[in-house]
Amino acid sequence: MLSTRMNNLHPYVPGEQPKDRIYIKLNANENPYPTCQNVIDRVCSFIKENPMKLSLYPDPDSLSLHKAIADMLNQTGGVLTRAVVKEDSDGKKTVTPSPQDKIPFEVTPEMIYTGNGSDEVLSFVFYAFFSSSEKLTLPEFTYSFYPVYAGFYDIPMQTVPMKDDWSIDTEKLLAEAKKNNSGIIFANPNAPSGLGLTRNQVRELLLKANPEKIFVVDEAYCDFGGESSIPLLKEFKNLVIVRTFSKSLCGAGQRLGFIVANPELVQAVTTVKNSLNHFPLDAVSQTAGEEACKNAWYYAECARKVSEERDSFVSFLKEKGWEVNPSQTNFVLARCPKMGGKEVYEFIKKQGILVRHFATKGIENYVRITIGTKEQMNELKKIIEMI
Ligand SMILES: *Cc1c(COP(=O)(O)O)cnc(C)c1O
Repeated sequence: MLSTRMNNLHPYVPGEQPKDRIYIKLNANENPYPTCQNVIDRVCSFIKENPMKLSLYPDPDSLSLHKAIADMLNQTGGVLTRAVVKEDSDGKKTVTPSPQDKIPFEVTPEMIYTGNGSDEVLSFVFYAFFSSSEKLTLPEFTYSFYPVYAGFYDIPMQTVPMKDDWSIDTEKLLAEAKKNNSGIIFANPNAPSGLGLTRNQVRELLLKANPEKIFVVDEAYCDFGGESSIPLLKEFKNLVIVRTFSKSLCGAGQRLGFIVANPELVQAVTTVKNSLNHFPLDAVSQTAGEEACKNAWYYAECARKVSEERDSFVSFLKEKGWEVNPSQTNFVLARCPKMGGKEVYEFIKKQGILVRHFATKGIENYVRITIGTKEQMNELKKIIEMI
C-alpha cells in the first residue's frame, strides 16, 4: 500500500513536549519571553475591525510583511542583541544597527520570501537549488533537518567532520564541495555547537566556492550574537540566507520563516512555492509578523536579556567544571565531567526541567540547554549544583 518513497522517509524528531506534568522547557530553543503586547493588540484589532479578513484570501505577495521585514533588517543589521535601542521624548522606542552590523545597502522587499516557518522555507530551498545528481556538502553536526530534506528530495549528501573544538572545518568543507562540485549548507551560528563563523570567514568561503552553486547560510540564531552574512548579498549572487521568527522574535507558535537573497533566487523559491500550495502565510500571521518587525526594539531587549543570561550561565558551568562552548546563540552545548549526557538529561528532567539530549554518536555525552529567563536559569543552576 505504501510507496517506496514513503517507506524511505526518516522524519525529524522534535524536542519532546510531554503532557504528564508541567516542565520548564529548555529543550527546543524557544524564546522564554512573551511576544510584544503591540503584536497581540494588533492581531486582536485586525480580526475585530476587519471581519472579512478571515473570509477572503490573504495578500498573495505578503507585501506589507516583506516590507516590514526588510525595514527591520535595515534597522537592526540582522543582529538584535547588538542593535541600539533609543527612546524619544514621547516614550517611542526605535532601533539602529551597531556599527559592526550595519548593512552597506538597502534590503528591499524583493529580497524577501516568507513561509510557514523556516523549516518549510528550507524545504523549498532544497527543492529549488539542490538535485539528486549532485552531492550537497554540509558539516557533520549542524541542524538535523537538513539530512531529513536531503532524504525527502533524494539529494545525496557529503558530511564533513567538525574540528576538535566543535567549530566548522571551513577548509575541509570547501575541499569536499569542490570535489563534489556541490552546493553548501550550514547554520551560522551553528547548532548544536552554538559557535559562529565571522562574516569574514563566510566571505572567504564564498570567494573560494563555486559561484554557480547555491550557498545557504541558516541564520536562525544570528540575532543572539552572531555576524550576519546579509551584507555579503550584493557581492555573491549564489548566497541564500534563511531566518526565522521562532527564536529571537518570540514566534515559534506563529510559524514564520523567511529567506533574504537576491531577487532572482527569491523568484525561484516563489516558483516552487506556487507549484505546491500557492497561498502565502495566512492573514493573521502576516499581520503579526509585520507588527513584530515594527517593534524590533522589544525583541532587541529580549535578545539582550537572553545573551546576558547565557554568558552568566556559561561562567557558572565552567566554575562547576563543565566543558562548554562559548555560544553566540540562545542555547549552550555542555558536558558534565561526572555524568553521561543521557544521565544528566534524566536527572534534570526528574527535577522538572527539560533539556535536549541527542543519542547521536559523537555528541551523546553532551546536553543542549536553551537559555531561559533569569528565574528559570536559577532553578536550573540549583539542580546542576546537586549533580
Ligand atoms: C529552529 C531552527 C529552524 C526552524 O525554525 P522554524 O522557523 O521554527 O521552522 C531552522 N534552522 C535552525 C538552525 C533552527 O535551529
